[in-house]
Amino acid sequence: MLDALKGFGLTFRSQFRKVTTELYPEDTKVTAPRYHGRHQLNRYPDGLEKCIGCELCAWACPADAIYVEGADNTEQERYSPGERYGRIYQINYLRCIGCGLCIEACPTRALTMTNEYELADDSRQDLIFTKEQLVAPLTADMEAPPHPMRLGETDQDYYTLEYTLENTLGDPAEAQGSGPTSGEAHP
Ligand code: SF4
Ligand code: SF4
Repeated sequence: MLDALKGFGLTFRSQFRKVTTELYPEDTKVTAPRYHGRHQLNRYPDGLEKCIGCELCAWACPADAIYVEGADNTEQERYSPGERYGRIYQINYLRCIGCGLCIEACPTRALTMTNEYELADDSRQDLIFTKEQLVAPLTADMEAPPHPMRLGETDQDYYTLEYTLENTLGDPAEAQGSGPTSGEAHP
């Protein structure tokens, strides 16, 4: 009997406590700046892609969540500076654990992670993101690839430009308006 009264007392007192329920999705939470959310494949300021299809991200991934197939650029059809580009790029968000090892492995900082965390779905197929979904949107001053290199003669010119941009403007992706990229800000 005493235990029952204690239980009712606890329930009664709980009515006056501060409610901790989160009203998601009506009230979405702001993440920490370095939160590892959805990935993004970045572009150079002229619109060419930074990904060179090297597969280092896929090899670094402990969950085997990334699939990459590279292909050769040609002078008629160029998607990135240099020899190769990522023809097929997929991330399986059923496998990804958000560890960020892939963005650490990327030699061109093509791959970064945004703060977007709404990645739930009821379709397995829809959780395999393709290159078209992952690549950063074109801004007003960018041109959709394929197109020739506009910012230099060689891929080295592009890397040097990127280095200069970083040191003069801060995060180049944010300067280009391509959204938050925690990987770029905090490699
Ligand atoms: S964040 Fe980790 S688990 Fe997800 S794709 Fe990158 S390396 Fe793989
Ligand atoms: S995202 Fe980076 S590591 Fe992955 S294939 Fe492209 S260039 Fe290589």
